[in-house]
Amino acid sequence: MKNLNGNFYNPLFSHVYVERGALAYAKTREILARFPHAKRIIIDHYKDVFCRSRQDYAAQHRAQSLILAVKHGSLLYEGAPVCQSFGNAYFYYTSCVMNCVYDCEYCYLKGMYPSGNLVIFVNLEDIFAEVGERLAEHPMYLCVSYDTDLLAIEHITGYASRWIAFVREQNELQSGCLKIELRTKCAGRELWQKVPPHPGVICAFTLSPQAVIDACEHRTPSLEQRLLCAAEAMQAGFPVRLCFDPMLYCRDWEEQYDEMLAQVYAHIDMEKLVDVSVGTFRVSQDYLKKMRRSEPYSAVVQFPYQNDGGVYHYPTELMEKMERHMVERLSERIPKEKIFKWQET
Ligand code: SF4
Repeated sequence: MKNLNGNFYNPLFSHVYVERGALAYAKTREILARFPHAKRIIIDHYKDVFCRSRQDYAAQHRAQSLILAVKHGSLLYEGAPVCQSFGNAYFYYTSCVMNCVYDCEYCYLKGMYPSGNLVIFVNLEDIFAEVGERLAEHPMYLCVSYDTDLLAIEHITGYASRWIAFVREQNELQSGCLKIELRTKCAGRELWQKVPPHPGVICAFTLSPQAVIDACEHRTPSLEQRLLCAAEAMQAGFPVRLCFDPMLYCRDWEEQYDEMLAQVYAHIDMEKLVDVSVGTFRVSQDYLKKMRRSEPYSAVVQFPYQNDGGVYHYPTELMEKMERHMVERLSERIPKEKIFKWQET
């Protein structure tokens, strides 16, 4: 069932677990105030709840609990080979939130995490400090919305605004040193009015045909809502990227993706895009194994994928046909050098 408030999905957490160490943080108090009716449970470490064995991810995700925690150890990770670097040499990602309020059947988080609950790390400043240290060594391209959809919970955390302010500060100290990507399926347009744009903040919208959204991107905004949001971000001056990734197979995929592109062209000035990415669904074998156990009736998860070196993808011929089709169509509207097709390394 959708629980929509404007363009946001509003989770109704019945339980909030709070790490003892997170209690002193202002962000913890701020988030708790948003859920006055949720039962509060104090815990020693988020892993005591998040990493319990034999959890049912799908059931937990349907009725998510919230965990507020402090992140320790290294907070930056090098980009994974299945992810697109967009030609950036120093490609990193960071997770200030784990899991997502949306529920895409194909989401790799279902294979990666033992729990479907949402974890918000309240010590964002520590991540900023580590990014600052790394920037003293080299510039960075940093994805900050990989293991979640940060914009979808902006009304709860305010983290996207803080990342944008951080990018501005860092680039004032050293021009061009930090570029971030905020990837989203969100349609919350309030941010574009609230925060001034910065060329170092790429807003990347993942788009799918409406039939795919209806079938497997549960709780997410419609294609139309996402496009309105992307168009407004562009108008406000933010660099915008469109991600046709993952492309998903269905019987009439050519028709579906062509219809989607017609809708995209009706809303988006393609010449003003930073770039676009294209890639069919792929996932590591370990994640898919877990996803198949957790979602036995999901057509996208149960598809007979081909395994190459531990990565499952569509059979080569189909994969190439789908990606080629999309690249050819997009080339009619956008220069080839702005089309990034995912390639196995
Ligand atoms: S929006 Fe992204 S992170 Fe969220 S459930 Fe869908 S695929 Fe996963």
